[in-house]
Amino acid sequence: MATIFSRIIAGEIPCYKVAENEQYFAFLDINPLAVGHTLVVPKCETDYLFDLDDNTLSGMTLFAKQIAGKLKEMTGCKKVAMVVLGLEVPHAHIHLIPMNSENDVDFRKEKLKLTPEEFSKIAEQLNR
Ligand code: 5GP
Repeated sequence: MATIFSRIIAGEIPCYKVAENEQYFAFLDINPLAVGHTLVVPKCETDYLFDLDDNTLSGMTLFAKQIAGKLKEMTGCKKVAMVVLGLEVPHAHIHLIPMNSENDVDFRKEKLKLTPEEFSKIAEQLNR
C-alpha cells in the first residue's frame, strides 16, 4: 500500500505544497513545530533515508537547501534546522524547521494549531 506521503505526492490527499521537481516534493507539516515547518520527501518510496542511493540522497539535500533559504528569508529565523527522525511514516523525510533556539526543535513540544488560511498563506509565500 502506498504511504501517506506517496498519496500526498499523487494528489490523493491534500497538502500545502511548498516545492516540487521531478524527484522531490516538499509540503508543510500538518503538525508544525514552527511556522514554515516543512517536510521534504523523495518521490520514490523508500522508508529509511540512508537506503536512498547516493545521487537521490545528495539531490534531496540540495533540494532542501533551496527551501531552507526561502524559509529563512520568510521567517527571519536564525537558522533552519534539518532533522531526520521519527518512525511514524515509512517514507524517508527531512523536517526543515525555522529555529531561533534549540527549544524550537523539541518534538515533545505542543505543536502549533494553524488555520487553513494560515497554512495557505505560508505555502503561498514559499512558492514565490
Ligand atoms: P515522523 O515519522 O517524522 O515521526 O512523523 C511524520 C511527520 O509527518 C509528522 O511530523 C506529522 O505531523 C507529519 N504528517 C503525518 N501525516 C501527515 C499528513 O497527512 N499531512 C501532512 N502535511 N503532514 C503529515
